[in-house]
Amino acid sequence: MALIVHKYGGTSMGTTERIRSVAQRVAKWARAGHQMVVVPSAMSGETNRLLGMAKELAPNSSTAEAQRELDAIAATGEQVSVGLLALALQSEGMQAVSYAGWQVPIATDSSFTKARITSIDDQRVRADLAVGKVVVITGFQGIDPQGHVTTLGRGGSDTSAVAIAAAMKADECLIYTDVDGVYTTDPRIVPEARRLTTVSFEEMLEMASMGSKVLQIRSVEFAGKYRVPLRVLSSFTPWDIPVEEEARSGTLITFEEDEKMEQAVVSGIAFNRDEAKITVIGVPDKPGIAFQILGPVAEANIDVDVIIQNVSHDGRTDFSFTVHRNDYQRTMDLLKNSVAPTLGASQVRGDPKICKVSIVGIGMRSHVGVASRMFRTLSEDGINIQMISTSEIKTSVVIDEKYMELAVRALHKAFDLDMPTQE
Ligand code: ADP
Ligand code: ASP
Ligand code: MG
Repeated sequence: MALIVHKYGGTSMGTTERIRSVAQRVAKWARAGHQMVVVPSAMSGETNRLLGMAKELAPNSSTAEAQRELDAIAATGEQVSVGLLALALQSEGMQAVSYAGWQVPIATDSSFTKARITSIDDQRVRADLAVGKVVVITGFQGIDPQGHVTTLGRGGSDTSAVAIAAAMKADECLIYTDVDGVYTTDPRIVPEARRLTTVSFEEMLEMASMGSKVLQIRSVEFAGKYRVPLRVLSSFTPWDIPVEEEARSGTLITFEEDEKMEQAVVSGIAFNRDEAKITVIGVPDKPGIAFQILGPVAEANIDVDVIIQNVSHDGRTDFSFTVHRNDYQRTMDLLKNSVAPTLGASQVRGDPKICKVSIVGIGMRSHVGVASRMFRTLSEDGINIQMISTSEIKTSVVIDEKYMELAVRALHKAFDLDMPTQE
């Protein structure tokens, strides 16, 4: 008997029919003798619907008070899902109970809309499992030290599931979604994308942080930190396929690098349309300038991603960086109203229509010329690179958003990712 955590995403929970199928699948695993904890997301579109209503009433909800309410609103989507799934499980003849994050409790810090899990008390859940119940726990939410409901950021149910699996030392965490695993790139953009049977934890971490939303980045971080065996698989296969067959399907996130030794240099391509670029023009080129620009940005709790400073002319330089598109206006206002005038910068320019495309692969550690192949491919398609950032196993470029699909397709082909491999 193993302790297994299943996570089902929005599309997997999209209709009552889908929820019934999830219940049948979970019941199958429980009947095979496993202890089951299930973490569903809100039904597809529901979180957007809830936040859409909030936006109608309060377009600029950046205060802590407003963000508290946003979380209280958004968290209701998952509360409906857990109740419906527990009912569906009961209809399948299972004993099942649902809990909201605060009932477990799943403790988080107080960063509304992007809270971090600090601890999970598993006593109540263990007691239920011990008497044969399936436990259904809301994804995406927790409770802060003051008792306020918090959410973990969009796509956060992945993180809830992996964190619960880590806290309970589960034997495996299965992330059920609307694709049958992790692909070389988003199969919705490149139909030739191939499913990977395994992907190394480090590659998955880079792919998630570079924008592959198949797994929320924090879920991958948790899996790495606590060594949670993690698999991504489809909830759209027939629910009654044998458990052993299902348990081997999809993509396994591995922790052993040597399994990948003989494989492609580049394993995947990620892209991110959620960023915006800001350039401060004509700042004095002297020590402390990066701090004077980015210090106030950090103080405003705005995350900065790619940064470049150009060579200076006549003692002045241009300084560019990217932020999340949601923070674009706030960053522009901050720079225009206070930072730029203090520094004597001549202008602040913004471009919200950029995207970041990244190639990822642990093979990049041991191969040279990978980045230059990327740059050549983009230049052959006439795509201008605005910024570059690299790490040991990835190279990212910032380009005009309108070239995103073209760039991803061209790179996918250039690195032979559409070719079958012997896995
Ligand atoms: P869920 O609601 O189940 O959490 P998401 O929409 O968050 O599902 O994530 C699944 C989606 O991730 C897929 O439908 C796919 O379009 C997208 N995706 C992006 N990059 C990849 C990738 N490399 N492999 C697989 N899917 C990807
Ligand atoms: N329902 C939340 C969202 O849409 C969390 C999730 O689906 O993982 O972002
Ligand atoms: Mg998701």
